[in-house]
Amino acid sequence: MTDRKKVYLFYKKTDELEPKVQKIRELGKKYGFTLTERPEEANIIASFGGDGTFLQALQKTRFREDALYIGINDGEFGFYTDFSTENTERLELAMQSDLVEVLRYPTLEVTIDGEKTFHVLNEVSLRSNIIKTFVIDVFVDDLYFETFRGDGLLVSTPTGSTAYNKSLGGAIVDPKLPSMQLTEMASVNNNQYRTLGSPMVLSKQRELKLKIVQDGNDHPIIGIDNEALGIRHSHDISVRVSDRTVKTLRMKDNLFHNKLKRSFL
Ligand code: NAP
Ligand code: MN
Repeated sequence: MTDRKKVYLFYKKTDELEPKVQKIRELGKKYGFTLTERPEEANIIASFGGDGTFLQALQKTRFREDALYIGINDGEFGFYTDFSTENTERLELAMQSDLVEVLRYPTLEVTIDGEKTFHVLNEVSLRSNIIKTFVIDVFVDDLYFETFRGDGLLVSTPTGSTAYNKSLGGAIVDPKLPSMQLTEMASVNNNQYRTLGSPMVLSKQRELKLKIVQDGNDHPIIGIDNEALGIRHSHDISVRVSDRTVKTLRMKDNLFHNKLKRSFL
């Protein structure tokens, strides 16, 4: 039992946060949790901070499929942060319960130039870092679909649908639907260039390929959740729904639609 209670804490060590984290460390000790400095041997990975910190914790610990991720916000609850440093009773309840339900969030697998593979929990974005438009050929399951010209394209997960995707007019997708959504950033549409123009949701069986047309004006930045990769010499990005999911705790009073209502309505 005890070896299921090894915890790795992911946070920025600031004077403000440290005493709050210390309080939670002591709480954990009381319930038999032990700490580890090595994320690869942890069963539980807890991030302290907002949704952005939760996303970073995942990237830094390489999307461990067998670990349970817990987001503890410093203040308000977020989309991935079901706990708060200000409400230790709630955390204490979760620590005591042997029957807490586990929730699994779909992720996307992003392969760059057939070599490097990344996982994302929010989205992968492909944008130009200069003021000029750039051009991307879009393929669905190897079928040439459209040529995009504009600021960029974004592929989001269901849980990422409430983030950048939403700002681009994408739909909100229930995290129980393993899927991905392609949205456009300011596409040029005229008699010469034509794209679908609507967000498109694709099933787990599909593969999306985004090929940057290299015309000397391509200066792409690829965003992997909240990290930017410089891909000056990469041009082939393939995206599919991954078999790997992110395990987190399900809190009965904080279902997806509670979060939507709290944040947007
Ligand atoms: P940030 O610029 O601080 O984040 C933007 C906001 O999005 C923050 O309020 C963040 O919450 C929130 N957020 C993150 N994931 C979310 C989700 N799944 N659903 C709803 N809101 C979410 O950057 P960050 O904190 O590192 O977050 C990275 C994310 O920001 C990216 O993955 C992207 O989705 C989003 N983003 C949005 C835009 C846009 O809407 N125009 C542009 C760039 C990036 P916290 O304050 O709790 O961190
Ligand atoms: Mn943030």
